[in-house]
Amino acid sequence: MLASLLARAGVGTICVIDRDYVEPSNLQRQALFDEKDAAESMPKAIATARKISAFNSRIVVVPKVADLTPANIESLLSDAVLILDGTDNFETRYLINDFAVKNSLPWIYTAAVGSYGVTLNVIPNESACLSCVFPRPPQGALETCETAGILNSVVSTAASIAATEALKLLVGARDRLRQTLLSFDLWRNQRVEIYAAKPRVGCQTCGLHEFPHLAGEGRPHITLCGRNSVQIHERSRPLNFTELSARLRPHGTVRHSDFILKFWREPYELTVFPDGRAIIKGTTEPAVARSLYARYIGN
Ligand SMILES: [Zn+2]
Repeated sequence: MLASLLARAGVGTICVIDRDYVEPSNLQRQALFDEKDAAESMPKAIATARKISAFNSRIVVVPKVADLTPANIESLLSDAVLILDGTDNFETRYLINDFAVKNSLPWIYTAAVGSYGVTLNVIPNESACLSCVFPRPPQGALETCETAGILNSVVSTAASIAATEALKLLVGARDRLRQTLLSFDLWRNQRVEIYAAKPRVGCQTCGLHEFPHLAGEGRPHITLCGRNSVQIHERSRPLNFTELSARLRPHGTVRHSDFILKFWREPYELTVFPDGRAIIKGTTEPAVARSLYARYIGN
């Protein structure tokens, strides 16, 4: 939604980073995708780039099918002038916050769950950063898209607000930027704004310039929102899908496109990307997922 608004507005170059593929359950709220994308398990970054090029061929969209991690964030975001958060987890957001503050890059935090949305503009050295507002990631039983679902109009509202702030930044209208953490609940008709125009004194990130998330601390990125799934990053060399398909065929059902390979062996479904990353459905146990990966994809 955010990419679509900016692309239609004519933002010249958009890099879309997404680790996931389209599933039928996404179509309720992810307005760029359709049933064909879900049937083909299209990587979301590729599907986004294709849709955008169909309605605005005059801009450049660079799709990156990848999970943003401490190891690859420098190479994936080194050309960025503005980072927009369309993620679904706090690990990635704190990683982005560390990178953005360290490199003095503006970024916009945007989140939606249930009927609740929240967004914050982070202008390093000027405004509060994510750690100023939330020194630690929220702990304990949080509502997630798994337990609460997501109202599609909350996604489009949050994306519209963030896209507007992004345009202000890109055209240099900094005096028009919202200077608050804005949260809203469209179902309960609530709206709260918290002052965030200045950094918090003593903030670990923008005050003390400590970047533990860039150094790879924090929880590993293994769980996927709304899925009975585990993500595995065991391997860093490319896979040959034709070879792998031939090897897997005796063990179950296998299918592949240029972008993705799927292998079904009851009760599991393995989705493998060309760089070797995999999403293993049918378990939430990393140990089970790792052993399936080692058995079928290799080390
Ligand atoms: Zn801060």
